Amino acid sequence: MPELPEVETIRKGLEKYLVGHTIKSVKIHYKNFEGNEKNLEGGKIKKVRRFGKVLSIDLDNGYSLVIHIKLTGQLIYRGPNLKHPGLSKKIFGGIPGKHTHVVFILNKNGTLYYNDYRKFGWLKVVKTKDVEEIGFIKKLGPEPLDGLTLNIFKEILSSTKRAVKILIMDQSKMGGVGNIYANDALFLAKIDPRRPANELSVVEAKKLFESIKEVLKRGLKYEGASELAYVTPAGKEGGYQDHALVYGRQGKPCLNKCGGKVKKIKLGGRGTYFCPNCQK
Ligand SMILES: [Zn+2]
Repeated sequence: MPELPEVETIRKGLEKYLVGHTIKSVKIHYKNFEGNEKNLEGGKIKKVRRFGKVLSIDLDNGYSLVIHIKLTGQLIYRGPNLKHPGLSKKIFGGIPGKHTHVVFILNKNGTLYYNDYRKFGWLKVVKTKDVEEIGFIKKLGPEPLDGLTLNIFKEILSSTKRAVKILIMDQSKMGGVGNIYANDALFLAKIDPRRPANELSVVEAKKLFESIKEVLKRGLKYEGASELAYVTPAGKEGGYQDHALVYGRQGKPCLNKCGGKVKKIKLGGRGTYFCPNCQK
């Protein structure tokens, strides 16, 4: 599932391409579209915000389009602000294609497509002043790159004996860290993902906090990881999957060169990768 680096990459792309465009009309064939699309028509796009994994496209008429792409949602822009239009083969069926559920017709010959082949993603039209009142957004914890401090992080860890990996992926405790980056952060911090969170030492907590920030920054640098269907608004894939530290590397030698091999287990139902030799 797309995580903070992927959704932030989408946010930056949308802001770069969409700001200044006006939405002329909206064509919808999607059950997960809520609200009145007429409230978007005629609105000029002012900015694009992100709350955890949720995006908000804010218009100058007091309305916003809130989007959660969930597992396989894609937002793809075509138009005059795009210098190098490419189209990843992860855009199954193309644009517009059989997985295109919403089309935003913009002025100046711009178009924004919403594709989603698993159809878990949702879009919602709300007043801009109400965006932060949406239950999902209201419940979000602070983010590692914005608002989460080491002290809050330590408090979160000491509050529970849940496995540390499951805890750092809990969006109500901290926003934006999903499976790929949780695996890699624990590897970088040399901490076993199964450890009870409240048993981490002060030194380990600090190391993990720094490691989470570091892997998220790496994720941003490579414009996210393209698993499943993630693409940028330019229609391109991210590159983090080719630079993952431990995620997806089961059976391969540990990158810490400790002599161990990466093992894969299931933890809380999610694929969990770690080096039993150096992650203690
Ligand atoms: Zn190792």
